Amino acid sequence: MYTINSMFPDLFIFERNRSCFIVDRYTPNSSDGRLWNWSWLESPIINSRLSDKVTKLQNLVRNYEFSSGRDKWIWVGDSTGIFTVKSMRAVLDEKLNGNVVGQSIWCKWLPIKINCFLWRLFLRRIPTRQNLGSRGIQLQTDSCPLCGREVETEEHLFYVCEKSKEIWRWVERWCDINSGNHSSLDQIVVNLIECAKSKKQRKMIEALIGSILWFTWKARNDVMFNNKRFSWEAVMVDSQAMLFTWIKCRSKCNIDWSRWGCNPLALF
Ligand SMILES: [Zn+2]
Repeated sequence: MYTINSMFPDLFIFERNRSCFIVDRYTPNSSDGRLWNWSWLESPIINSRLSDKVTKLQNLVRNYEFSSGRDKWIWVGDSTGIFTVKSMRAVLDEKLNGNVVGQSIWCKWLPIKINCFLWRLFLRRIPTRQNLGSRGIQLQTDSCPLCGREVETEEHLFYVCEKSKEIWRWVERWCDINSGNHSSLDQIVVNLIECAKSKKQRKMIEALIGSILWFTWKARNDVMFNNKRFSWEAVMVDSQAMLFTWIKCRSKCNIDWSRWGCNPLALF
């Protein structure tokens, strides 16, 4: 928010009534259209530097029509002036220009905890060994708990690691889509989402991506804390089954399990 205090602090200290509104200091409809009636503690005009600022301030509001009503907040991200999360997301999507689509994935078909997880993941802020180590937490190793070959980063765990890589190939086979060329987690996410031919298909792909990332993370935690073996097939089965339940319960889409198994995109 702009105030005289923040934009013209040198002038603000001269104002006699610091709670006044700009509209109190001028009267429209004078011969030149504006009549300024400043009420300074002492005139700042004597100082040429401040005189320039007065002129600048006057020019700034020259064409502005003040109303007599109370000031109110207006959301400029939407033509209605009313703030909604949806319009905020549209603004962010436009600003991000599709480069980091993951950051703005918020799919209503997924439970909130998964959306929060995705948000943190695409900001690279989930507790991978590399993240914990860089925050000063002592670990015996920073290597990937699935393959043990490289440092466990989000990029490695969800995209590079041989153990989890196969899950992306399965997504393409199951949905009969081709994600084309990619060389990072963000890129494959963007490419997969771009395969959608409708809004609902996009939502479905976002939900599927969210679900496989979530179940990969859960399976990784089972390896770390429950001595279980990692299996991408298990991630696939969990994603397939739970996503069906979530969409069935959370959306108005009437989906059928037998057709779901063949190609889920064909249902949207
Ligand atoms: Zn690995």
